[in-house]
Amino acid sequence: MKVGKLIHLKEFLEDAKNGNVDIGEFTAKVFSETKKIQEKFAPFITINDSIGELKKGRIFPLPISVKDCICTKGIKTTAGSKILDSYMPPFDATSVSKVKENGGFVLGKTAQDEFGFGTFSTNCAYSVPKNPYDRERSCGGSSGGAACITAAATFPHVAIAESTGGSITAPAAFTGTVGLTPTYGRISRYGLIDYSNSMDKIGVIGKEVFDAALLFSVISGYDPLDSTSSKVETKDFTRFIEKDIKGMKVGIPKEYFEGIDEKIAKNIMERAASLESLGAELVDISLPLTKFSLPSYYLIAMSEASTNLARYSGLRYGLQENVSGNFSEYFSDIREKGFGKEAKRRIMLGTYARAAGFREAYYIKALKVRQLIINEFKNAFGKVDVLLAPSMPITAPKFSEIENLTPLQIYNIDKLTTAPNMAGIPTISVPAGTVSGLPVGVQFMANYFDEEKLISVASAIQK
Ligand code: GLN
Repeated sequence: MKVGKLIHLKEFLEDAKNGNVDIGEFTAKVFSETKKIQEKFAPFITINDSIGELKKGRIFPLPISVKDCICTKGIKTTAGSKILDSYMPPFDATSVSKVKENGGFVLGKTAQDEFGFGTFSTNCAYSVPKNPYDRERSCGGSSGGAACITAAATFPHVAIAESTGGSITAPAAFTGTVGLTPTYGRISRYGLIDYSNSMDKIGVIGKEVFDAALLFSVISGYDPLDSTSSKVETKDFTRFIEKDIKGMKVGIPKEYFEGIDEKIAKNIMERAASLESLGAELVDISLPLTKFSLPSYYLIAMSEASTNLARYSGLRYGLQENVSGNFSEYFSDIREKGFGKEAKRRIMLGTYARAAGFREAYYIKALKVRQLIINEFKNAFGKVDVLLAPSMPITAPKFSEIENLTPLQIYNIDKLTTAPNMAGIPTISVPAGTVSGLPVGVQFMANYFDEEKLISVASAIQK
């Protein structure tokens, strides 16, 4: 089926700059189209109804959708959870302020798994986004709404998404879009609702590599409001599109091809061959610690999540009720009503993993494994420029199939994205054709702050 429509942003932005776009007409069209897409695929929790005055800037007048875990001044922000029902942030996240300063506007807040807890955007307190390729299938998660609107949009648009363990790569792969997860600390987390703060990264999803590179250029850079923000200046990443990749060393880590759908693996290797024909050198690599990334990722993620969710007591923000009983009773009652099943599961497992007596065996051990995985990547990037792997082991599953999976089976689907995410290295997922009519993604990983290599190699694949 035909999905969305391809509009080259570069030309559109030039037209707008030259005064050839009627802004009133354009925005009216954007919102009427968004309404139609929402009815069909449900990518949004909230659609913005007042965009205000637009500034003239690099991305004027681009509509930007924002994942619902990112704060937007005066627009409801729930992180996909009932516990934040009706929360209205009094401030913008830094990434959102940068969009506005550069002439973009917030189109709406996209659907996601509650707090990012999921791979299919089915752990949602509000709408569950449907895949534009087949409405009976998932868009992936947890940034499912972001990928859904990106694929379905019939107008120029780019999405701000977020990944902790694969939440940009999974939905990008399942919807045939481009997802860029930057180096940890490269985009400010100020105004991002924490899932697992040592791994959370804001990133972008676009139809084309250019779109992702453009928005990344606009929203990245040092921010004194985020103590983990890297003191690395942003640059114009669109300059690295279609840069010659002759001589680039592309590592093929064999562990990323084990247990992968054969047809997917074949698609990915065809992409590798096309890079070779452009002059890249393919290098066989082994990353034996990959298999330990999944359990250690989930231990760290749940441990951090369980402490981060402690602030939702029904007293400060979000869901509130008439206070009754003592604090413990009120606290338990509101959390029972406000959190979904997966959030409760993670609070319990995370609390257990870092409790006295278990901490050394689980949480601390997972941190040690994480350091070893970081060392393994550093070692690999001493030999190659980028690593190439499938984005996901499967194509978008049907909702009816997801219903029958156990939590452990669902966690296991993240096995190709947990290692780079816990190491905090940048990755990009690019469309790599289809298998049985469904999109497949190829992911590239690079060393810290080497996003430009990802953009060059991804644009070579796109071409
Ligand atoms: N599926 C992973 C999880 O549930 C990753 C989610 C994410 O990156 N936010 O933790």
